[in-house]
This record gives sequence, C-alpha cells and structure tokens, in this order.
Amino acid sequence: MKETIDFIRAHYQSEGFIPLHEPFFSGNEKEYLSECIDTTFVSSVGKFVDKFEQDIAKYTGAKFAIATVNGTAALHIALQLAGVKKNHEVITQSLTFIATCNAVSYIGAHPIFIDVDRETMGLSPEKLEHFLSTGTHMENGHCINNATKRIIKVVVPMHTFGIPINLDELKTVCQKYNLQIVEDAAESLGSYQNNVHTGTKGLLGTLSFNGNKTITTGGGGMILTNDEKLAKQAKHLTTTAKIPHRWDFEHDRVGYNYRMPNINAALGCAQLEKLPEILKEKRGLAKKYEVFFKDKAARFVTEPKNTVANYWLNAIVLDDAPNKDMFLTTTNDAGVMTRPIWKLMSSLPMFKDAQKGNLENSIWLEERVINIPSSVKR
Ligand SMILES: *Cc1c(COP(=O)(O)O)cnc(C)c1O
Repeated sequence: MKETIDFIRAHYQSEGFIPLHEPFFSGNEKEYLSECIDTTFVSSVGKFVDKFEQDIAKYTGAKFAIATVNGTAALHIALQLAGVKKNHEVITQSLTFIATCNAVSYIGAHPIFIDVDRETMGLSPEKLEHFLSTGTHMENGHCINNATKRIIKVVVPMHTFGIPINLDELKTVCQKYNLQIVEDAAESLGSYQNNVHTGTKGLLGTLSFNGNKTITTGGGGMILTNDEKLAKQAKHLTTTAKIPHRWDFEHDRVGYNYRMPNINAALGCAQLEKLPEILKEKRGLAKKYEVFFKDKAARFVTEPKNTVANYWLNAIVLDDAPNKDMFLTTTNDAGVMTRPIWKLMSSLPMFKDAQKGNLENSIWLEERVINIPSSVKR
C-alpha cells in the first residue's frame, strides 16, 4: 500500500492532500464569467445557455440537448418524458449513485433493482432478460410485473465511473418488452460504445456537470434526445412551462424551474473547449495505473471491448474483500483520498423493500471496488 501511495504522490508531484477528483480550469472560464457579469446576464437569460446546449449536442452527436440546473433534475424530467407516472415501475441498478433512484421516487414511481455485470459495473442485459422473461408478462402492449401487477415503463442503465455498458444488447432486450431506455450518463461524458456517445442510444439520456464530474458548470445537467418533440417538451417543462411571449406570463401546466443559469453555462462552454485535453490526460493516468496495478493484489478497471471510457473516476477491484477497510484507512491516513463504491441502493432505508433480482455481482463489487485519485494534474 505504501507503494501505491508513493506512486500516486509521484504522479501528482505533491506532498500535500491529494483529492479524489477536483475541477480543472485552464481555458476561457474567467473570460466567459466576466462577460456574464459585465453584461448582467448571469441568470435565466443569456447566450451561453443556447451555446452550451448546441456545443454539447454537437459533441455527443445527440440531435437535441436541453440544459438543466443539475443532473438529478435532468433525470426527473427525462423519466417523465419517457412516460413514467405515479405507481409505475422503473428498472435500474442497485449499484449506482442515489440520484438515479431519487428521480424515480420524485414521480411516485418504484425502482426495481437488477444486477450489474462485473466487467462494466453497469446494468446486466442478461440479468434483465432473465427478470423480464420470468417475472413479467405483456398486457395491451405494457410490460406488467407479475409480483405487483404494476406497469414497468422504463429501464435506466448507468455507465459507472464512465465505463460504458453494452447498450446494443440492452436495447434488444428492452425492445422485446416495449420498455424505453433512459440512460443515466451523468458520469460518462466522453465515453462511447460502438462509436456512439453514451446517453444518445436510449429514448433520452442525461448528463451531470457537478463539481466532481469530468467537466463542471458548478452545478448543472443536460437532457439528451434525438426526438424533436421530446426536446421541445423538455425545454418547456424545465422552464416553468411558460408560453413564450415578450411580456405575458402564461403557463399551460405545472412546470419546473430547472433551467441552467447563464453563468453556469458560461463555465460549461469554457470547460467543454478543454474536454479533449482533459480526456487525454485522464487516459494517460489510467494507462499508468493499469501498468502499475498489474502485479498488485487488485485489478484496475479498464474499458471493455468496443468501448471508449472517459476514465472519469479510476477504480480498482481488490482481489481480497477483507483488505478493503485497511486499504481505505491507510491511504486516507496518508492524505491520499480513496473511497469505496456506493452502498447498494437496495440496502438504504427508503429502498429496502423495493423488489430486486439476484444481486450477486453488485454485492461482490460493493465489497471490493475502490476509487483512486483521478484529477487532471495541475
Ligand atoms: C452525478 C450523478 C448524477 C447527477 O447528479 P447531480 O449532482 O444532480 O448533477 C446522477 N446520476 C449519477 C450516477 C451521478 O453520478
């Protein structure tokens, strides 16, 4: 473990505290932020929101991108647009960040937890197929859960730490059961599966630009879709459902104040310009880690075949689960921040009664996966 600590310190050329992931500002951030302040356009009006949306659409290849105040808000809206209503059910992974499940709960819908694959740490198409073929039936075009008799509407895969899952396989399964896919691509800006950017293969996808993500807007999110009608609805719903007019205030339904402020979008525009550089740095560090961990008692997580990972948060899988606490204590005591993967959602008080499949891989990973410092070197 001393070797690991020394290796990380040598990479960052630092004797001080080494965080897990910090933002990296090296471009036009200050210039664009000053422009917001000088022009007074810091809030809900301004050119940077439109520009950031267009830039993200271009970068990801999504036809449309709608900026939101954070990634959770993007998920909340995307799930509604995919047709999720109160008392519907949404299939997702138990091994994820809480936001995925919170968004389901905001609607009054219920999560069903299905296992992940060990290689990707993301939703397993095979486990999903097994659950759907043994636990559901079709009725008037709806997938009905045999156990609860409720409609299962949407499947939400998450690309854990930027490692893409096999969406083509997942899509084939979902189509058989008339289920829509909403991709939680919060962690995977810059990640591709079969040359397609994550978040653009499902009906809708969402991104996050929180401070700890690959690029940041302070706080922020994005809804991605190739469907023009859904894109228009997303914009409408996230901007208080106001009917555009020069002076009249008229709203045609209950909407949300989920719009990204101009000042955050300005930061995003500057960050996005540097994304290729950031990704190159991250890939370089991942390569170094991969070589370093080859003869250690852990496997460094790498991108699966036919995918490109952004290596947002680097992760190792310890050979021996009992070593986890020791590894975390030793590294953190030495000022090198490391963190275990999330506790399974199915073990939290709000979701402990949720339906779940066999979660053997999720449990196996929960016991072994540790994130290691992944910031771009300043
Ligand atoms: C970061 C993240 C989100 C969104 O988080 P916000 O802080 O609301 O932007 C959603 N899902 C996952 C898996 C995330 O890691």
